[in-house]
Amino acid sequence: MPQSQSTTSISMARARPVPGVRALPPPTGCAADHHGVDRRRPPLEAEQQDARGEWLRFAPVQPLFRARAAQRLAVLAYHGVTDHRSFGAQLDRLRRLATPVSLEAVLQAVTERRPLPPRSVLVTFDDADRSVLTHALPALDARGIPATAFVISELIGTERPFWWHEADFLARHGGRARSLDCGHPSQLLRRLKAMPDPDRRRSLHELRVSADRRPPSQEQLTPADLLALRDGGVAIGNHTQGHPCLGRCDDATVRAEITGAHEALTRWLGEPPIAFAYPDGGHDPRAETVLQELGYRLGFLSDHRLGPRIPTHPLQISRLQVDSSTSTRRFDTILSGLEPAYRRWRRQAVA
Ligand SMILES: [Zn+2]
Repeated sequence: MPQSQSTTSISMARARPVPGVRALPPPTGCAADHHGVDRRRPPLEAEQQDARGEWLRFAPVQPLFRARAAQRLAVLAYHGVTDHRSFGAQLDRLRRLATPVSLEAVLQAVTERRPLPPRSVLVTFDDADRSVLTHALPALDARGIPATAFVISELIGTERPFWWHEADFLARHGGRARSLDCGHPSQLLRRLKAMPDPDRRRSLHELRVSADRRPPSQEQLTPADLLALRDGGVAIGNHTQGHPCLGRCDDATVRAEITGAHEALTRWLGEPPIAFAYPDGGHDPRAETVLQELGYRLGFLSDHRLGPRIPTHPLQISRLQVDSSTSTRRFDTILSGLEPAYRRWRRQAVA
């Protein structure tokens, strides 16, 4: 296939129709950018983003946004803690300027239809790598801030890396897959996420058997760690069994991914989880049906938005994407909703 063909056309041309799989555009949301991109984002881009945040911090509309945000619920979506000092500064900021609330408090607001206090903030972590236990928990505990971690159940108690890190490593060490032969390596993750899930799994397998090195192991949380987190004020939620893009899965896989994780978590925690975070942040109505059947009360998106202080759609609660290395000034503009609004405006302007 000629190199000049676009990534989308390559994946669309090679995608085999799978019954029940909806055709969706490639993921472009913030969560998609987080996997394998944010953590390895070139320093220049990170600096540019921070510089933008610094500038927005002094925008005349920032006080307006901050006042409006006081009447909204901010749910922060982290992916582990890579910068301990900066994360501590962010938490100090929350203690000073916001009202950190627990998952239980959000559930209560939903149940009693009573708004959360002004400036309520819920801290959450997706994927829950070990830094949630080793770095986030002590920092949260020292400040009395509750949180929630959404775990990928099939990784618990293993040394397996996240699949997106694994794919990136394998491709950089000679790994090849038929459906990934064309296109720029930087598009690898985006293309894998755009495939029907059976194709993604097959491509991963092909990368594994063709690469000349195995990826380094990654120590994951254990069932005992989950209990330690919960006892330390970090509620544990479901983030599926293996973190596929649900929109690329057939109905049976959507059900199996949620139910499998639900059963494992119930076994480890001694109680069923009540909260779910959609992998890659996108809402999936089939997933919502399964969640309702299993008794889930809260579901979290990664749409980079603030939400109402009484969540109107409890299985579709908005979240803001943040990074532990984000400067406090940029952090302020995210929390106020100004940076997300600016991003949306820019995306619309470019489109
Ligand atoms: Zn995730």
